[in-house]
Amino acid sequence: MPGRVCVCTGVAESATRQTGPADLPYSVPALAAARLPGRAAGHHTVMSGETSGPGLFVILIGPSGAGKSTLLKAYLSADPTAVRVLSCTTRPPRAGEQDGVDYHFLSDSEFSRRRAAGTFLEYAQVFGRHGYATPREEVLTVVGAGRIAIKDVDVQGASQIRKAMPEAVQVFVAPSTLTEIERRLRDRATESEDAIRRRLAEAERELPYAERCDHRIANDDLGAALAELTAVIASERRRRG
Ligand code: ADP
Ligand code: 5GP
Repeated sequence: MPGRVCVCTGVAESATRQTGPADLPYSVPALAAARLPGRAAGHHTVMSGETSGPGLFVILIGPSGAGKSTLLKAYLSADPTAVRVLSCTTRPPRAGEQDGVDYHFLSDSEFSRRRAAGTFLEYAQVFGRHGYATPREEVLTVVGAGRIAIKDVDVQGASQIRKAMPEAVQVFVAPSTLTEIERRLRDRATESEDAIRRRLAEAERELPYAERCDHRIANDDLGAALAELTAVIASERRRRG
């Protein structure tokens, strides 16, 4: 039976764990984001100096349907100095998706060529079908310029990045329940029933990776999740600055 997702934050010194029912393996913490200025649910503008500091590669990890892209876009609108690193994929574009905006959409042969040339920081076959990869050069350029490079990856990609670039900040993102993930996948209506089932099965396998991440964010309320991500990035920059 799917349980609750463990999404306690790594920056929340004062967060109180709210323990879930005893038969569930996970508990959900109170979000620490209430300490941030102007963090009421909804739009959060990054305060001056809140994310200044050295360049940083931040990766958002979590099951499909967790809200990683949504949180990423919200962070980019709040912090215009941050740069989204686009993934390369062999998956065909969904309705409304554009090459160079949502992904670099590549043919299988071009993906293989770039992989063989070593241009990817990590790559994975996601859901056993399409290739997804992080272009190394884009990450290095943004971080080298002292900016935040941010993107989402699946758990396989995150494991590779842990080895190839251990200084990257790994942030696990998920709502508190698998039921909510399912609801979001169905509402998003971008996948077939078959694909939704595959993604949900994969979600259960991915959840334990949360424990290996530097930070965990509950994406129940988007405004609170955004405030928390902002706090995570600011704290990592302070720590390394
Ligand atoms: P992912 O990138 O992790 O696969 P998406 O960002 O595409 O997930 O989000 C999946 C669906 O859930 C989208 O329809 C999105 O609008 C919705 N969603 C994302 N975050 C929230 C949230 N905090 N509350 C409610 N719905 C959300
Ligand atoms: P989607 O097809 O829904 O856009 O993405 C499917 C999955 O691929 C998501 O879990 C997403 O995090 C993952 N993904 C997106 N970009 C990359 C990437 O560059 N590398 C890896 N390993 N996974 C990625």
